Amino acid sequence: MAAYPVVRFAPSPTGLIHIGNARTALINWLYALRGGGRFVLRFDDTDLERSRREYADAIEADLAWLGIVPDITCRQSERMALYDAAAETLKKAGRLYPAYETAEELDRRRKRQQALGRPPIYDRAALKLGDAERAELGAQGRKPHWRFKLDASVVRWDDLVRGPSHIDCASLSDPVLKREDGSFLYTLPSVVDDIDLGVTHVIRGDDHVTNTAVQIQIFEALGARAPAFGHHNLLTGAGGEGLSKRTGALSIRSLRESGVEALAVAALAVLVGSAEAVRPVASLAELAATFDLADISRAAARFDEAELRALSARVLHHLPFSAVRERLEALGVAGPQAEPLWNAARGNLARLDEAETWWGVVHGAIAPVVEDHALLVQAAACLPDEPWDETTWGAWTAKLKALSGRKGRDLYHPLRLALTGRQSGPELAALLPLIGRVRALDRLSAPSA
Ligand code: GLU
Repeated sequence: MAAYPVVRFAPSPTGLIHIGNARTALINWLYALRGGGRFVLRFDDTDLERSRREYADAIEADLAWLGIVPDITCRQSERMALYDAAAETLKKAGRLYPAYETAEELDRRRKRQQALGRPPIYDRAALKLGDAERAELGAQGRKPHWRFKLDASVVRWDDLVRGPSHIDCASLSDPVLKREDGSFLYTLPSVVDDIDLGVTHVIRGDDHVTNTAVQIQIFEALGARAPAFGHHNLLTGAGGEGLSKRTGALSIRSLRESGVEALAVAALAVLVGSAEAVRPVASLAELAATFDLADISRAAARFDEAELRALSARVLHHLPFSAVRERLEALGVAGPQAEPLWNAARGNLARLDEAETWWGVVHGAIAPVVEDHALLVQAAACLPDEPWDETTWGAWTAKLKALSGRKGRDLYHPLRLALTGRQSGPELAALLPLIGRVRALDRLSAPSA
């Protein structure tokens, strides 16, 4: 086994990834980050009908937005020869056998078993077919699908999230690995790739627990050592509903377009439903530092978009200028005043693009609101000379207080209305030097409405 962990995120490119898929990707990413490991992005695109290259590209872009940059990217559709070879190995070992039942036949059998109060497990009738019978079915034009012959044993593993786990394979049907048309279901290619790419830790949603028992048997049947497995709880929507790629609900794309911060998505996706408190973070490395799979709880976790928005604002309030410089530039917030503007305004932002509004308030044309004309006349008269800094506001308003006899809200609010045209906003001590004397004087001297 490699000295460092090799993990993988294996989405099927049949839609945009949603917050629940992102949770799996992020948990894997943090695991790799913590252990100095590698992250494989594997597209499970063996379903040629439903898989689309556009979705794969969109998933890569969404992962990049979240801060995930895979070490290796591969596509199952380009690796078919490996799966065929593995299927041959299993056939030779007597672990993969042809079965000819149609879906209707299987359905009928299941119903009969259920009526008799028996578990609906495949009865292995196909295993009892002789060569002549198979040849006869073939001559009728029936094509087989292929089932993996499970060992009727209890498979045990020490789950990285759920602790000691086991599944009795005697209670499962032999899984179909290959369809009539020769295409593979997900189960075998996943194992083949995990072996081929040296995956050491398979971390995925707990909807895959049953697959794990089957896949451990396949690893062993192929002569490989099974990796470690961890199954995290799934996310539901705020109302407890399951998330689906098909509906596009809570897709990373839509969250991104709605202006939430990637770091907020990451923090909430990872921390919700875990023993760690949901909190804003400044980087994925910060999240990785305290991340522990054992902290993830077993029960499903609810993802609440309102909580995400609140967290996103809190993330913004702490982000240093260096982390947002380029995004601000794209909004036109650039030059020497960009950093002080950011520091002044970030605490007031719900979305990063609102920085543009405050940039406009400082530099653009605003409509000053005149609430107390007499005060503004005095304010203009005692406006200090430049250079200005963050102490200017305090010195100026102290003078104005003495001159006008106004204090508190009666002193400050008319100044805010005149200088910014708004009822509330960032600290005026920080904004005033950015507005500058010329504009400030102009705004204070606006005619009363
Ligand atoms: N394509 C599978 C899924 O998206 C991958 C499961 C796995 O990680 O093994 O559910």
